[in-house]
Amino acid sequence: MSTLLVTNIAYLATFDDDAREIKDGALLVRDNVIEAVGTMAELEGVSADRVLDLSGHIVMPGMVNIHHHMYQNLTRVMVQDDELLVWLKTLYPIWSALDDHAIGVSARVAMAELIASGCTTSSDHLYILPNNCTLDATIDAAKDLGLRFHAARGAMSRGQSQGGLPPDNCVEKEEDILKDAERLIHSYHDNTRHSMSRIILAPCSPFSVTPGLMKDAAALARAHKGVHLHSHLAEDLFEEDYCHDVYGMRSVGFAESVGWLGPDVWFAHSIFMTSDEIRLFADTGTGVAHCPSANMRCGQGIAKIREMLDMGVNVGLGVDGSASNDTSNMFMEARLAMMLQRVAPNKYLSETPGGRGGFGGTPKALSAREALTMATRGGARILGRDDIGYLAPGMSADFIAVKLNQLGLSGTQRDPLAALVMCGPFKVDYSFINGREIIADGQFRHLDVDGLLASHQTVMDRIYDQ
Ligand SMILES: [Zn+2]
Repeated sequence: MSTLLVTNIAYLATFDDDAREIKDGALLVRDNVIEAVGTMAELEGVSADRVLDLSGHIVMPGMVNIHHHMYQNLTRVMVQDDELLVWLKTLYPIWSALDDHAIGVSARVAMAELIASGCTTSSDHLYILPNNCTLDATIDAAKDLGLRFHAARGAMSRGQSQGGLPPDNCVEKEEDILKDAERLIHSYHDNTRHSMSRIILAPCSPFSVTPGLMKDAAALARAHKGVHLHSHLAEDLFEEDYCHDVYGMRSVGFAESVGWLGPDVWFAHSIFMTSDEIRLFADTGTGVAHCPSANMRCGQGIAKIREMLDMGVNVGLGVDGSASNDTSNMFMEARLAMMLQRVAPNKYLSETPGGRGGFGGTPKALSAREALTMATRGGARILGRDDIGYLAPGMSADFIAVKLNQLGLSGTQRDPLAALVMCGPFKVDYSFINGREIIADGQFRHLDVDGLLASHQTVMDRIYDQ
């Protein structure tokens, strides 16, 4: 048993049920759990094994990234100016050279980048597993770095010879996918509170798997408590055309037809949604991972996040893969989520009879606090977690701190929390995950970053040479 008392916090944003924001705050942590949150006056007289003075810092809950493909940081800045279809067809052959070592090294780079940008829990959707790759390498990486991790066992089973998009050497047999998914659940899925490791089943997309695999994956997940389901949906117009041509329905209809709606399901992107479909997501508790960087990078469109939130859809944020972002920065994602809703066409303005032409946006579309709430509580809820996403007694000790006395934050004293979004992106100066100090004074405590970057470079050269 050990205790940590964080004192003199200049601004403590709890994101708790009352959205408390505390000046001159303090936090008491016992082992991996928060025991008390309040003002310095409220925690007066409390003693602890260690005292950390965070005067001059803002503290908030660690952020939750709910959509990523970590291996893609090996192929950043590729296919810079083409649409998703070309992007995928170009990258599939390069990714077919991946092996377990490449998966492990790229995951470590992605996780370090995420942690440095305020993420304390992440999922990773690993859907391409050539050369006997496994998810074990990413789960090991998360353990080493101390990241709370939800590994999504992705899969592609419908190759080109079966009418799918990926080349045949990038797909797996469905019975092998399900067998490996079951192995991962039994080896790594921990559904207890404060768990550091959970498994998600995640067939890749309507154009790379069969309806049979979607149904079987759902049945397998639902036979195990806390195993959620994840996939891409309504990401691109070519996907809508594919669903129309192959399945005779819209992408959301496809998801419904295979039993993929419910509070244990969330989809990345969900751009091409009608109001009725958004209502269906809200009514069924189906979640959405909003990935603004990737949606802008690939020119796909603007997800209707304002409408989703107003209708009660659970929405979280995802950085998406590093080949379509091309970074893994949660503060940046929160900032772009806020900005992008503001330039989304305002239907009231554009539908005005004899209107002024063009599309108007509105600065009221999404606030900085709403963006950060999606990045914390929103993602936690979608992952099925009641122990992360906000700071309160009994919650996991996952919190981050940013120094306020720096160039990009100067002049923001009246609202330092909004400043993290409006003036960012920033890197964290402190990160605690499950009570463990991962970053202190802006430096990783236990990670050889230079060595990691050298390994990444070596792996990248090998992948491209093949
Ligand atoms: Zn994705």
